[in-house]
Amino acid sequence: MTPIRLALLATLSLGTAAPSPAAAQDLATRYRATTDRIIDAALSDSTAWNRVAELTERFGARFSGTPSLEQAIDWIIERMKADGLDNVRGEPVMVPRWVRGSESAELVEPRRQALPMLGLGGSIATPEGGITAQVLVVTSYQDLERRAADARGKIVLFNVPFSSYGETVQYRANGAVAAARAGAVASMIRSVTPFSMRTPHTGGMRYDSTVRRIPHAAITPEDADMMARMQERGERIVVKLVMSARTLPDAPSRNVVGELRGTTLPDEVVVMGGHIDSWDVGRGAMDDAGGVVAAWEALRVLDRLGLRPRRTIRVVGWTNEENGMRGGNAYRDTHRSALGSHVLAIESDAGVFKPLGFGFTGTDSAFAIVQQIGGLLTRIGADTIRRGGGGADIGPIMAEGVPGMGLNVDGTKYFWYHHTDADTVDKLDPHEVAQCVAAMAVLAYVVADMPERLPFGNR
Ligand SMILES: [Zn+2]
Repeated sequence: MTPIRLALLATLSLGTAAPSPAAAQDLATRYRATTDRIIDAALSDSTAWNRVAELTERFGARFSGTPSLEQAIDWIIERMKADGLDNVRGEPVMVPRWVRGSESAELVEPRRQALPMLGLGGSIATPEGGITAQVLVVTSYQDLERRAADARGKIVLFNVPFSSYGETVQYRANGAVAAARAGAVASMIRSVTPFSMRTPHTGGMRYDSTVRRIPHAAITPEDADMMARMQERGERIVVKLVMSARTLPDAPSRNVVGELRGTTLPDEVVVMGGHIDSWDVGRGAMDDAGGVVAAWEALRVLDRLGLRPRRTIRVVGWTNEENGMRGGNAYRDTHRSALGSHVLAIESDAGVFKPLGFGFTGTDSAFAIVQQIGGLLTRIGADTIRRGGGGADIGPIMAEGVPGMGLNVDGTKYFWYHHTDADTVDKLDPHEVAQCVAAMAVLAYVVADMPERLPFGNR
């Protein structure tokens, strides 16, 4: 019987029956010795941090549509082949191409001072020569509504302190629409971060077809607070904003893929990775070279130990997560007919800091199994398996029913550096990166090797 037919039969026979709790309990006993070897191997190796350094320092930022991103993908393909991984390839994806161009912000009144700024991804340019206008500082959308009569013809500055990323990022994403609706000529946000050393943070934003498009940029928390105090003191604030951003035609890119083929069920796949693209500032070390490299290294550690699971483990560096999510969507489309054979999808996109565990989205019986596997990670403190988790790149296949997991790490400092010039490899600790490799390797290996397939389904 061909491996394919065998895999098909296995899927049919195991897909419906939920594994017994006893079988799940056995995983810890069955796999402890092997996973201890995996952890030992991962922790005694500094290749992961070194590769993050080499990748981010050779190619720098890897923004969608740039030669740097494609050169980084070529380099990974070359290295994965040299590592001896299976089926190493790039899968074609067309990605959007936004170009920042030159840009600046300057405080003109009450005194002149350059303001560190970053245009937000997708923003239009100012007219040539810039926009010089009075600034209205608001603290929320409700505050803008109250002062709407005051916003016309001004630059609206959303000075919204960081609460959580999900909440505060709303002003980055939608601030230009709300400001334009109130008649503003441009909008600025306080960068989405809990801590700043006067570093602006970029990120995605969107327009709405019902309202005029206006330029949208981020300034630092320090300068946003300063302008709020100036306004309180009754001082007139004028800023000159110059932006030359433009959107060019879509450009070719690739999802980068490498595998460890399964021995007896090679068509069943555990897919894991992160996104290979970054914003156009900094070097995208924690967001998300670390995630791609941790998954890649996990595979290399298994290969080096001669561990070949029953099922295939596929590492993917998805392209264009940051400003389009085209890579995750293309993966779903390219592999659509095989999604039923995707056993689990794992993403690391929260930084490769001290790992704490994983978040899981899937059925109750599958959750019970991954909790058992989590117990194998107690010695590195990564054993907390929580309900709910996944990632942007695996979102499209999770929506088709593939169970998903996201690596959870100590996130204290993630948003200090996120989408800034400061996202560089020195922010990462080699030992913590190695622990992330260990956590990814253990989880992927056991799910790919355990006798019964992890139950499919997402609810
Ligand atoms: Zn990311």
